[in-house]
Amino acid sequence: MSEISDEEKLDYTWSNAFQMAMDSWHVSLAPGKFAQAPISATKVEMSPETATAKIKNLCRWFGAEDVGICEVTEDMKPFFYSIGRTQGTYTTGHKNYQEDKGRAIPWPYPYKYCIVMTDKCDAKTLDGLRGPLVEASTKIACAQSDFAPHYLESIIRTLGYDAKANPFSNTDIMEEPFAVKAGIGELGRSGIVITPFGAQFRLMEVFTNLPLVPDKPIDFGLQEFCKVCKKCAENCPAGAISNDDEPSEFVTTVKSIRWSQDGKKCLAYRLAYGCSTCQGVCP
Ligand code: SF4
Ligand code: SF4
Repeated sequence: MSEISDEEKLDYTWSNAFQMAMDSWHVSLAPGKFAQAPISATKVEMSPETATAKIKNLCRWFGAEDVGICEVTEDMKPFFYSIGRTQGTYTTGHKNYQEDKGRAIPWPYPYKYCIVMTDKCDAKTLDGLRGPLVEASTKIACAQSDFAPHYLESIIRTLGYDAKANPFSNTDIMEEPFAVKAGIGELGRSGIVITPFGAQFRLMEVFTNLPLVPDKPIDFGLQEFCKVCKKCAENCPAGAISNDDEPSEFVTTVKSIRWSQDGKKCLAYRLAYGCSTCQGVCP
């Protein structure tokens, strides 16, 4: 690996400051630290169709490009984390790093619906593709992505229904299966959800018991496209994405047919250099 330049060193300093600042925001929204709005004693009565239309309009008003809804059914249980997530940054040296001792995720889950929103990523961030400021920008985008879910949570609770934002750094779930079930997009070769409009977005979720109309998964031909495209695999600097022509069958938390990604290789590279290449190159 080549020596880093003075300019890159300065970028790392800025990146570190950004990440610590954004982690403070995440940590202040952790379960038990954020004061949720009370659930109003009087429920506002409306049909699921009306509630769905209003919720989707509201999400778009908050800046979401797309909104989908899925039910939290038994088949989604494998996608809930039972041991919690690390709160704060991945890097143990940071001031705001906290070890997450894990929290029990109740099952049946106390919410019936998951509202999934997409938040467009800054194109300039992804143009840069690598380097310390990519990670800093990612942290900023993650922190900004906390706003809409928390607003929506408060609004639904004020309407008399239970709701809980699922912030990125304290998520109860693996987001991708929920986004696929909610009709946001399909899972691509890179392991991220791709929509008919591309891959440059972040996912945000709110769980609720407000009766809603769920969406259905979509098929816009991505699996066939990924077989020939391979841009993410060919450009991944860590060699973490399968370059195979065909997807394979995997049995992990669930049985699935997909391309493999080496999460450890990806994380090691991202921690050292910053990377959003697979998202940036996806057409
Ligand atoms: S983020 Fe970078 S290192 Fe990780 S899989 Fe994508 S391209 Fe590869
Ligand atoms: S870059 Fe190409 S192969 Fe990779 S996920 Fe996007 S469409 Fe699929």
